[in-house]
Amino acid sequence: MTSARTRERLVQRLAASGIRNAAVLERVRNVPRHLFIDEALASRAYEDSALPIGQGQTISQPYIVALMTEALLQEGGRPLDKVLEVGTGCGYQTAILAPLVGKLFTIERIASLQRAARSRLNSLGIGNVRYRHGDGFEGWPGQAPFDAILVAAAPVDVPPALIEQLAPGGRLVIPVGSGAHQVLLRITRGPGGVDREQLGQVTFVPLVEGVDRARR
Ligand code: SAH
Repeated sequence: MTSARTRERLVQRLAASGIRNAAVLERVRNVPRHLFIDEALASRAYEDSALPIGQGQTISQPYIVALMTEALLQEGGRPLDKVLEVGTGCGYQTAILAPLVGKLFTIERIASLQRAARSRLNSLGIGNVRYRHGDGFEGWPGQAPFDAILVAAAPVDVPPALIEQLAPGGRLVIPVGSGAHQVLLRITRGPGGVDREQLGQVTFVPLVEGVDRARR
């Protein structure tokens, strides 16, 4: 159920759904998604669906992780040196993205989720990641600017701090909207202002303001 063949089927499915970036597909092939979820759900790890990870949160659907990573990397674009991720969750998206960029900075508001993600990623040998227990609405001012920012939870509007923390030419991939009405956006910071592209309808958990202090 966690075999190479099962994983390959997922890769083929994502390719058939339009994911073209070979490096992204290779990451989906190599990252053991079953290690990011509860053992009771491991048999479903290579289905193309979101699954619960506790604390009311989910591991994202593989297709969406691949789509966002592809949109961030942009074929032919310059290599991404510094990248910010908001919403570490279980760390699956972090594991897909980290080896494809220089340094990945990741923020999560629920400390226990981030602790578990950090120990998983360390044991997988993924070392170019820095972790922060904080509020993604504020970004990570001390490390800005970023070549790219990926947000894995949906605010109603794009947080201004995230646009401010984009380097010139930088890209922000973010779901925006509430409930069932969310759209995935790619916002590029150009010389004359920001350019917005719509990448499709999506469903993410909400981006919640403030740090979670209750569940440490
Ligand atoms: N990236 C994960 C999916 C995470 S789900 C994956 O690979 O599957 C979204 C995560 O965003 C949750 O863990 C949630 O706690 C976190 N989150 C929500 N609001 C946030 C905020 N303001 N700052 C940081 N993290 C936030």
